[in-house]
Amino acid sequence: MRASLRGMHVSGAERLIRQEDIPAVLCQLLKRPKEHDFLKITLERVESWEYAKALPLSSYSFKSVYEAREFALSKLKDSGIPYDIARKAMEILARGPNPEGGNMRGAMLIDIENGDRLEPDPTRGVRTVRMDWESREEMRKLLLERGFTERTLDALAVASKNVYCGVMAELCWSDDPNYLTGYVASKKLGYVRITPLKEQGDPVGGRVYFIHGQKLTEIVQCLEGKALLLRG
Ligand code: AMP
Repeated sequence: MRASLRGMHVSGAERLIRQEDIPAVLCQLLKRPKEHDFLKITLERVESWEYAKALPLSSYSFKSVYEAREFALSKLKDSGIPYDIARKAMEILARGPNPEGGNMRGAMLIDIENGDRLEPDPTRGVRTVRMDWESREEMRKLLLERGFTERTLDALAVASKNVYCGVMAELCWSDDPNYLTGYVASKKLGYVRITPLKEQGDPVGGRVYFIHGQKLTEIVQCLEGKALLLRG
């Protein structure tokens, strides 16, 4: 599902479900965006899928955005991303990654060898789709009991699929002006939740996927094409 308001993306969601659950899930998705003037749901039959383990989760809080971003950069470095390339990508994210203004629907792809942007359409970005939890309700309950949010449930699924598809590391913060928590994720470190990665009221957000440039085609095919169910 994707929804927008006055041409700006406001909400998106992915589900991988059984045929008998389609009516109930369609209703849930219709209610998901708070405000919108456009909503589109695409339904596709998936013939085959794979399973993967979700990334382990950790959480860190800081007194300022500056400290939180420095920590995020250090985690990217620990994940094998050269510091200068990570910093430059973070600056683009903070300014707004869409060259035409506004947020992107998908993620920026950055080549870890030279910092080049690789996404075929830099106004749209690349979207991680066709993933869900094997037992969404169970995982949702578990995360909420431990003080996490529904957002974490969805973001952890995106980040876990990204690592499965060969993304070396990811940096994300939301475009919701009231949601200040973001994360760094990588195979090495898992899903590292970090707050506050932006200032209250800031409407700019997005995702950066750091990849080896020569693997671009296979990574994009996996992110957009492969169906994946995650186990907690
Ligand atoms: P959100 O965490 O939903 O606020 O999303 C923050 C930003 O991440 C959005 O503005 C998009 O640029 C990007 N994004 C959201 N969902 C996806 C996805 N499934 N795949 C790639 N990028 C996404």
